[in-house]
Amino acid sequence: MTYIPPKPFEWNHCGTCGSKLEPAFDGERERPYCANCNRHYYRNPVPACCVFVRDEEGRLLFTQRAVEPCLGRWTLPGGFLELNESAEQCALRELTEETGLTGDGVQLLGVSVSQSADKGAVLVIGYCIATWRGTPRPDSDASDLRFFSKAERPQVPFEAHRELLALYDEMYP
Ligand SMILES: [Zn+2]
Repeated sequence: MTYIPPKPFEWNHCGTCGSKLEPAFDGERERPYCANCNRHYYRNPVPACCVFVRDEEGRLLFTQRAVEPCLGRWTLPGGFLELNESAEQCALRELTEETGLTGDGVQLLGVSVSQSADKGAVLVIGYCIATWRGTPRPDSDASDLRFFSKAERPQVPFEAHRELLALYDEMYP
C-alpha cells in the first residue's frame, strides 16, 4: 500500500474556542487570527533531535524504521521534542526509547531545517552522545539497529539527517 502523508495543518478554526479564523495583520504580515481569543495562529518548523552514537570502531548507529514515513529505511535515531523537556533531554530520551541504550552527556553537533510533507518544516538538532552503555535493542518504532562504517553507511531519507551527517564527517573525518 502506498503511503500518503497527511497534509500539514492548515488553521481554519480556533483550536481553543472553535471560532472561524480570518486573516489579520500581526504587525509583519497576515496570519490566521481568532477575534474571540485575540490570538494569531503561527506555523513554524517543528523541533526534533537526532543522535550520533559511535562504537569503539567509530561506526555510527542507525535504526531501520518500522513506521511511516519512510518505512524500512535506515535513519539516525531521534524524534520530536515534548513540551516539558530540554533538547538534551529529548536526545537522551529518544536514544533510550529507540535503541535501549543509556547515554551519559550530549554534545551539540549542529542544526538543520528541512521541508516536511506533513509538518511543513522540521528543525533537527543533532547531538553526539558522549558515552553510552547497554546493548542496542530495537523498540516498536524500529525493526533493526546496526552500526555502519562510513563506507557502508545507508542513504538516509531525511534531508536534515543528510546535512548533519555531512557536518559530522567534517568534524570527525
Ligand atoms: Zn478562539
